[in-house]
Amino acid sequence: MAKNELDTRFTEFGTVSFAAVTRVNDFIGHLENGKLMGTRCVKCGKTFFPPRAQCCECLSAEIEWFEVAGEGKLVGYSTLQYAPTGFTEEVPYTIALVDYGDYKVFGRIDASVPEADLAVGMTLKAAVSRTSNGRLTYVFKRA
Ligand SMILES: [Zn+2]
Repeated sequence: MAKNELDTRFTEFGTVSFAAVTRVNDFIGHLENGKLMGTRCVKCGKTFFPPRAQCCECLSAEIEWFEVAGEGKLVGYSTLQYAPTGFTEEVPYTIALVDYGDYKVFGRIDASVPEADLAVGMTLKAAVSRTSNGRLTYVFKRA
């Protein structure tokens, strides 16, 4: 990409993009390579998901990427029957919070996992996926 070209990779993320340009645009490049990534503060070690470009603990801007890999534990979930603008054609779908130990990841449960199979504490893994309109996203699947 040319140096003064606008980096709008976030327009490719999720069903509806609310921000086209962010300081963590590499998030999309990592998704394109099949990796879900968060950021870690090099100075104090605090981890962030969604990724942050600056640490909210020590204010350092020295940030490195890490992969959301392995298994997390399901903390909670909710199946939506009504959805905000842009998502109305996708209901019902299930959103969840998954605990990876040092950080938690919020996202959607893959359609391959019926709500009846979900239980708080079960292990799940994140996977890069595509929305129904072909855009990049990630989902949780059975570990
Ligand atoms: Zn820090």
